[in-house]
Amino acid sequence: MSLYQVTDGVAIVTLNRPPLNTLGLPLRRHLADALYAAMTDTTVLAVVVTGAGRGFSGGGDITEFDLPCGNQEPAPRALFDRLEACTKPVVAAMHGMALGGGLELALACHARVAHAATQVGLPEVHLGLVPGAGGTQRLPRLVGVEKALNMILSGSSHSAASLGDSGLFDLITEGDVVNEAVALARKLGDEVASGRSPRRTGTLPCHMDNAQAFTAFARATLKTPLGGSPAPKACIDCVEAAALQPFAQGMDRETEIFRSLAGGEQFAALRHVFLAERTATHIVDSPTVPARTIKQAGVIGGGTMGSGISMALANAGISVLLVERDSRALERALKTIHEHYEGLKKRGKLTPEVASARVALITGAVDYDGLADADLVIEAVFEDLDIKRQVFERLDAVAKPGAILASNTSMLDIDHIAAFTRRPADVLGLHFFSPAHVMKLLEVVRGAHTAPDVLSSAMALARKIGKTAVVSGVCEGFIGNRMFEAYMMQAGLLLDEGALPHQVDSAMERWGMAMGPFRINDMAGNDLAAKIRAARIERDPTRVYSGTFDAVVAMGRHGQKVGRGWYDHIPGQRAPALSAEVQAAVVAHSQQLGLQRRTIGAEEIVDRLLLALANEGFKILEEGIAQRASDIDVVYTSGYGFPRWRGGPMFQAEQRGLADVLATMKRFSVGPAYQRADHFWRPASLLVRLATSGDSLRHLNKTETP
Ligand code: NAD
Repeated sequence: MSLYQVTDGVAIVTLNRPPLNTLGLPLRRHLADALYAAMTDTTVLAVVVTGAGRGFSGGGDITEFDLPCGNQEPAPRALFDRLEACTKPVVAAMHGMALGGGLELALACHARVAHAATQVGLPEVHLGLVPGAGGTQRLPRLVGVEKALNMILSGSSHSAASLGDSGLFDLITEGDVVNEAVALARKLGDEVASGRSPRRTGTLPCHMDNAQAFTAFARATLKTPLGGSPAPKACIDCVEAAALQPFAQGMDRETEIFRSLAGGEQFAALRHVFLAERTATHIVDSPTVPARTIKQAGVIGGGTMGSGISMALANAGISVLLVERDSRALERALKTIHEHYEGLKKRGKLTPEVASARVALITGAVDYDGLADADLVIEAVFEDLDIKRQVFERLDAVAKPGAILASNTSMLDIDHIAAFTRRPADVLGLHFFSPAHVMKLLEVVRGAHTAPDVLSSAMALARKIGKTAVVSGVCEGFIGNRMFEAYMMQAGLLLDEGALPHQVDSAMERWGMAMGPFRINDMAGNDLAAKIRAARIERDPTRVYSGTFDAVVAMGRHGQKVGRGWYDHIPGQRAPALSAEVQAAVVAHSQQLGLQRRTIGAEEIVDRLLLALANEGFKILEEGIAQRASDIDVVYTSGYGFPRWRGGPMFQAEQRGLADVLATMKRFSVGPAYQRADHFWRPASLLVRLATSGDSLRHLNKTETP
């Protein structure tokens, strides 16, 4: 394919940088050269810019940011300004997607032709940025201040068809965009040849009568989480500049704001998570092999997890046979599922047709016969190895050859479970999080014998059902829950020393966690946590937990489900209420231990909990349970309410400086004798090695980044 081609007076410039035509330096240079060629070729009357492959352009190249080429000319803003200044008309021919810098490029063209299904949007706000190549100045000039601000603030993408009358497009077509764009370019070329100037977006008026009142209102109603990203407010500042200042000044304001955000901590963290999620899909030490086809799935057990997993699969169009142990349990599971879809229908979230189609995809059974046709079976029965054994032995007898057999176990050893079958290569863990149809994270647990194509099928399935997948090796609790255990242990010990549950929760929430540890425990069930803790202590009696955990369970405070846990949960009241009874029990427990309670500040709470997470993360990394440090960050940001703008526990440790992490842990290793703090805070050897050598986790990550 020629990337620059002139036909009957129209130059067609093709952006070709698979998979998404991101606007890295080579592509920018190609565009600059092609525009120069077209402007200096007297036979060319007009230009069409189009994208090869899947779309027009996915936007700027985020991997370029800290590389020298990221600053090399032509930089996006200058290139688009140059494009807009061209004396011959330039028409964008858009299909697939035009996002971020891709849309900014199209905005700088003199006209836009889009296929109706093209997805357009400016997602920069999700990365803690504002669009930085004219998007905040040109979009309001085409679609108006209000619509532009909504698009920029939401960061979401829209189909071209849904923006049909917005003024963004000159033509929307179901046909061939390049042919249509060439026809339009020829017409505009003739007009320019007869003396008219191309229609430059930057020269259009951007007026709104009450612009200042409107932007003030937008600022006042902005929902920014505590300590959250400054980007949404910055987006408003840019659009306000578009409405109040001449184009050139608005552009300068945008550049200034963009640069300050791009140099900030939040962008560094958000970019880290963005790239980490992409990297996590690459499996280390496993050949690239085609995935197996998954059309028909089975789910065994229709409780909390099984019903959620069934819905997650059905939502992606996969048909599911849900197998329960008896007809009563099956009826209950199907009722839960029907009620869920009924609720979505009532709230207008799903059309009646889509809701019925999803319900129809889930059928039930109380025997295993129907599982013979399944390409994938996910087991979600009680967390009991004997029951899992029975299930996997029966499954082994009925499943067809090549079927993937998965367990949703939270704690049990996948290799034990695989050994219940004669096909351990087909077995793996698929650890969903509750509620499984909502939570993004999926830990894909790789057993000792799991086949490469079973792993790649799991990653492909995750993509299909909209999950963020991270590969984990086999260990107790896998990546996420194993680290969370260390975090919870510290949270409990802080209570013994002087903190109260709400002080710990509020310190963590103010720092940015979606929910503090005790609120999470109330949600998950304190009785369940007690069972897991007992099993853990049995296996490793050196673990030290605060006795307050058992005290709360002994008081019948099992959590939200019974209206009482670390807090009182009063029906109709969203926020949990403090419990005097729990606080008294916490204080009494310190007295029993003979501890003098002390005031513990938020900084110590945050440090102890975060460093407990990070140290366990380093151990997980050195044991090869996690493939890379950034995978651990993905687990925490997508499954445990860790703020994306903080980058994850490993990123945080690195930002803080590993030598400082080590020194702080050393301080914590002196504590009340019963806590065996020296044992708990023994640093992972990888942490010591990196802190001493000055090597960085980021470097380890980078060598593996595709
Ligand atoms: P649950 O008690 O809500 O549901 C278990 C279901 O399995 C019940 O409906 C039960 O009737 C059914 N069942 C039991 N034995 C069966 C058998 N032999 N055949 C068919 N069905 C059978 O439990 P849950 O919370 O959904 O947990 C299920 C699994 O998922 C466990 O291994 C658990 O560790 C894991 N898990 C739970 C969570 C969570 O937050 N609840 C999160 C991740 C993983």
